[in-house]
Amino acid sequence: MALLELQNVHTYYGKIHALKGISMTVEKGEIVTLIGSNGAGKTTTLRTISGLLKPRQGQILFKGQRIDTLPPHEIVKLGIAQSPEGRRIFPRLTVLENLEMGAFLYNTRSPEYQADLDRVLTLFPRLRERVSQKGGTLSGGEQQMLAIGRALMTRPQVLLLDEPSMGLAPVLVEQIFEIIQTINQQGTTVLLVEQNALQALSIAHRGYVLQSGAIVLEDSATNLRNNEMVQKAYLGLD
Ligand code: ATP
Repeated sequence: MALLELQNVHTYYGKIHALKGISMTVEKGEIVTLIGSNGAGKTTTLRTISGLLKPRQGQILFKGQRIDTLPPHEIVKLGIAQSPEGRRIFPRLTVLENLEMGAFLYNTRSPEYQADLDRVLTLFPRLRERVSQKGGTLSGGEQQMLAIGRALMTRPQVLLLDEPSMGLAPVLVEQIFEIIQTINQQGTTVLLVEQNALQALSIAHRGYVLQSGAIVLEDSATNLRNNEMVQKAYLGLD
């Protein structure tokens, strides 16, 4: 049984039919990437999984249990966390307070919390140096790290990452992808949405290509990298 499964999911914004029957699976331990151009429906897919949007048709299963009927906080509790696009951290709270907000499911005095915190600060040494700094004063890249760190503090089994490389300098892009790989190797399954398809496919096991709200291709990351249509449309290769 897949850890996460979408079955014929249709999501609307009012009359706009944004997802037109998405079916996909994420197996335990995988990094799966969802690639597609602007407006293809990548963010909508993640927001539908995390319960922020409700599908009008279709089902979403986590370990075989239906979750599309649950509110977002219940979905987080089950073990699915999203790190949103656009670095939505709490700007007036410090780095440490932002991370504590991620740990809302746990007692922040517990040893487990301290271990989680230490793990995140080890993954992101830049955050360790800045624990007392206000989130809003961090650089764009640091805010991105904080958003991912905060999602990790919920101890997710599945981490949904929305464009983690967006707006980052090339050296930080490399770093973020390495960190995502480390997070995965430490046991977290990852669903990664990226416009940076080449990088995403270089760390992913499998991928899906989304066009106008529908999946047009699914394959191993290696095959997608070698696919002519993918190369032309998403990798900037001719
Ligand atoms: P990008 O890479 O540009 O972030 P995306 O693949 O994540 O794109 P989505 O944000 O999921 O795309 O958008 C899918 C479609 O749904 C687009 O046509 C978009 O205009 C539409 N859409 C997204 N949010 C809303 C909204 N709040 N109201 C109406 N339409 C929306």
